[in-house]
Amino acid sequence: MAGIYIHVPFCKSRCFYCDFFKSTKLQLRNQFLGQLLNELSERRDFFPSTDNVIESVYFGGGTPSLIAIEKLEEILNIIRKNYFLSDFAEITIEANPDDLNLKYLSGLRSIGFNRISLGIQSFFDEDLTKMGRRHDSIQSRRVIDQTYNAGFENVGIDLIYGLPWSGEEKFSQNLKILNEYPLKHLSAYHLTIEPGTQFGREKKRKKLFEIEEEQSERLFWQLHNEAEKMGFDHYEISNFCRDGLFSRHNTSYWTGKSYLGAGPGAHSFDGTRRYWNKSDLNQYIELGYKSGISNEILTERDRFNERLMLGLRTKRGVNMIELREYYPGFMDNFETHIQKWIQQGFLQQWDGMLFGTRKGWFVIDGIIEDLFEV
Ligand code: SF4
Repeated sequence: MAGIYIHVPFCKSRCFYCDFFKSTKLQLRNQFLGQLLNELSERRDFFPSTDNVIESVYFGGGTPSLIAIEKLEEILNIIRKNYFLSDFAEITIEANPDDLNLKYLSGLRSIGFNRISLGIQSFFDEDLTKMGRRHDSIQSRRVIDQTYNAGFENVGIDLIYGLPWSGEEKFSQNLKILNEYPLKHLSAYHLTIEPGTQFGREKKRKKLFEIEEEQSERLFWQLHNEAEKMGFDHYEISNFCRDGLFSRHNTSYWTGKSYLGAGPGAHSFDGTRRYWNKSDLNQYIELGYKSGISNEILTERDRFNERLMLGLRTKRGVNMIELREYYPGFMDNFETHIQKWIQQGFLQQWDGMLFGTRKGWFVIDGIIEDLFEV
């Protein structure tokens, strides 16, 4: 199951917490699109013949919903022409409520998008204003309704929690509101204040602080418990789905499948080698992706660590039988090392899988780091 990721590096403005690579120079969109189409056709032989059926196409960013329907269709047509796109592929677009209306959403459906991920972040205007978002809660609700009216069934939203001015009660109300819709997917990310963002600058001036760890943990379990009551499966540390509709795009990363990332800053993996395009929109536009692409062969240690990291962040965990088969050289050390986490109740083994317990999941990133082979 291979995938294609399209990185659209434009946003109308910068949200106060965001450190993703993006540009607000929307006038460069057409030049970017020209180079993107070149990249997609020139890299048509990227996938190994054993893993070249594209089951997932994902438009992320930035803000892909800033691209006109005809242009999105051109991109999909280039993909259809140059790659083996499965008839059953999941074709997703990330979209912001302030760009959407029924006509645009219907256009997305008509050209083949069958999954949409809406950047809602909160259903409260106070939160949206303080985060520098461009939409309000009325737009959010209207757009979710329109998304269904346009014929989307597989609809997901993103939420941000752990906002310093907000608490458990408001978060609970956010979760209740999302439960009014038959959403199939929820991505919920804890706010982190990154240097170089508006929030980072406010933190430096001591005007904004991250919430305490205990409150973060309470919010995490509130999210887990309430989402599970609503019928969501908490399948990855930040991701929840209903009806088994986990994100195929994310899952192909987590399970080590090949993926091609096109656009400035996008990463790719062909099963052996990892590639990354330079995060430089001007260079991409002027000289094309080839001028800035780098790559490295993943060592056995890199692959082992990656498999560990991606697996332990999921509910399913990491497959010990596969680890023993593919990485026998690391296993003596690893199996000794995990014992302390198992004895302290942070990790558990069952049916050949190693996974985080309830106690372990909240701190899983620290456990993974401790288990890395160096
Ligand atoms: S719209 Fe998304 S990518 Fe763009 S600045 Fe806001 S959070 Fe970042």
